[in-house]
Amino acid sequence: MVLRTPQSEAGAAGLAAILDRPQEATLAFDFDGVLSPIVADPGLSRPYPGVVAALGRLAELVGSVSIITGRPVADVLRLGDLGELAALERFAIFGLYGMQRWDRSSRSVVSEPVPAGVEAARAQLPALLDEAGFAGVSVEDKAMSVAVHTRRADAPQEAFTALRPPLTELAERHGLALEPGRMVLELRPPGIDKGHALAAIVTGRGSRAVAYFGDDLGDLAAFDAVERLREAGLAGLKVCSGSDEVPRLAERADLIVDGPPGVLEFVEGLNEQLK
Ligand SMILES: [Mg+2]
Repeated sequence: MVLRTPQSEAGAAGLAAILDRPQEATLAFDFDGVLSPIVADPGLSRPYPGVVAALGRLAELVGSVSIITGRPVADVLRLGDLGELAALERFAIFGLYGMQRWDRSSRSVVSEPVPAGVEAARAQLPALLDEAGFAGVSVEDKAMSVAVHTRRADAPQEAFTALRPPLTELAERHGLALEPGRMVLELRPPGIDKGHALAAIVTGRGSRAVAYFGDDLGDLAAFDAVERLREAGLAGLKVCSGSDEVPRLAERADLIVDGPPGVLEFVEGLNEQLK
């Protein structure tokens, strides 16, 4: 297995630091589109074959491995069949952009309080969507946030574009922010993103190197965090799990891999070199 070389100098230095001092490295992965292929029904998403086992091996070789996702932790545990991994000392799961985490010692999900405004916005959503009148749009209740999916609408992109302004207004009315993703519009508390979650993990573990793997607009915040950590003297690597759908993330990446199979190949390459 050949480990792909990042195209940027900073990215190459990030990878070199991980290989040189793996015990001081934090590697973090988004779930959907990175570990599991994007599917029309998010309830049917499954990790790419072999990737969970590969993460388990990686967690034995580096300082820490985390999944940072917009989904609730319970979702990821169930969909990913991650029970065994979750028991590992060096493996962590952060859900809802860090508002939830899996606590290994108590074997339970620890959540921050439900943000004010989410309840009210959720209550007003059905009427708003009825009025917009796009068939096939679905609402995902994520407890700490609420997401509107248009991937299964008759005209996904049209519904996405048309719903964005009224949902932005609804979010703002309740002190929330509208966060767009791939055919999904999510209303959630402002200032909560994967970048904050990633920085907290890196700081908490005292890591000197960090790598983040993302595929969507919601991962830009984590790329920002990697860049801030680099400015602070850490080594960092930003990997885009490639997709033509999100050029803005690909432009910012040090390395683009070919979706979840490419992520698996990269992780296997790391495992081989670190062994
Ligand atoms: Mg994703």
